[in-house]
Amino acid sequence: MKYLDEFSDPALAAKLIDQIKSATTQRWAIMEVCGGQTHSIIRHGIDQLLPDEIEMIHGPGCPVCVTPLEVIDKALDIAARPDVIFCSFGDMLRVPGSGQDLFGIKSRGGDVRVVYSPLDALTIAIDNPDKQVVFFGIGFETTAPANAMTVYQARRQNITNFTLLASHVLVPPAISAIMESPTCRVQAFLAAGHVCSVMGTEEYPSLCERYRVPIVVTGFEPLDILEGIRRTVLQLETGSHELDNAYQRAVRAEGNPAAKTMLTDVFEVTDRNWRGIGPIPGSGWRLSPRYREFDAEYRFAVTDIHTTEPKQCRSGEVLQGLLKPHECEAFGTTCTPRNPLGATMVSSEGACAAYYQYRRLEVTHA
Ligand code: SF4
Repeated sequence: MKYLDEFSDPALAAKLIDQIKSATTQRWAIMEVCGGQTHSIIRHGIDQLLPDEIEMIHGPGCPVCVTPLEVIDKALDIAARPDVIFCSFGDMLRVPGSGQDLFGIKSRGGDVRVVYSPLDALTIAIDNPDKQVVFFGIGFETTAPANAMTVYQARRQNITNFTLLASHVLVPPAISAIMESPTCRVQAFLAAGHVCSVMGTEEYPSLCERYRVPIVVTGFEPLDILEGIRRTVLQLETGSHELDNAYQRAVRAEGNPAAKTMLTDVFEVTDRNWRGIGPIPGSGWRLSPRYREFDAEYRFAVTDIHTTEPKQCRSGEVLQGLLKPHECEAFGTTCTPRNPLGATMVSSEGACAAYYQYRRLEVTHA
């Protein structure tokens, strides 16, 4: 296949669904790790086309959703300062912190700007030498290389008024945390194809072996997802637990070596709090001490801001696959995209937002 719309071909989708149906003999719970996959599944109604025995559990792979509240509060603290231009991708502006969001800061006169690349923030820093320019760098292994490259360029060009507020998270430690949770129901994973296109697949076979789960690297179009599910079901039904790459048009085992070299130079692994989930050891990246002068947490002395998550939002259960969004009491009532209580209702990759946007308003399963 050559063009993207071919990956939505209804006849091929029907064939894959038939194959999944004939292979399925018992109940299976499969987690799609990535929020982009969740949106594709809900948008195209893929979960409703699968046999009743297959349950798709929505995983924690939405970068906006898992960015901890205390990082949002640090961003708000920095963005409110008069000498700061605070740059971010647009989807972070409505994510609620403890008391407000970045839009609130902007409406009260803060210089908060939406950019489309961290390099745009670097250009703003060059153009505004009398201001401190901060880029809010969050996300998984997919967004980290561009942020690392921007910090590298800032040092190379001696741009001293640029810093990065970094909160990166990593997929493999999250898979371990999910599998080690006493309430885990997940029996297999669709791994996120774009993450693997950067990092490769070398970390996954040991996870398959340790937790005895199949992991199938999967893309984002309807046929990609159906093929990932088909291969996963075949493994589950035969008792296999191996890594399988169903996204070979984008993913090589070694990943992207140039990006990995840049990441290793600029970042170091750290323990990271996941919003709604809690701390996961070794699950994030922060700027390494070699690049500390570009670390906004240190430049603006916000390392001591610590925040407790509010209880009314149950996104932690949603992100762990323990609760479907429309099973949350606040869903669609006190929590909507216009008035979100949690980040999963805000983000374009959030599971609550997907259920709201595609009108999955009723609880239909037991
Ligand atoms: S519906 Fe709202 S309150 Fe409930 S889990 Fe989702 S974001 Fe949180």
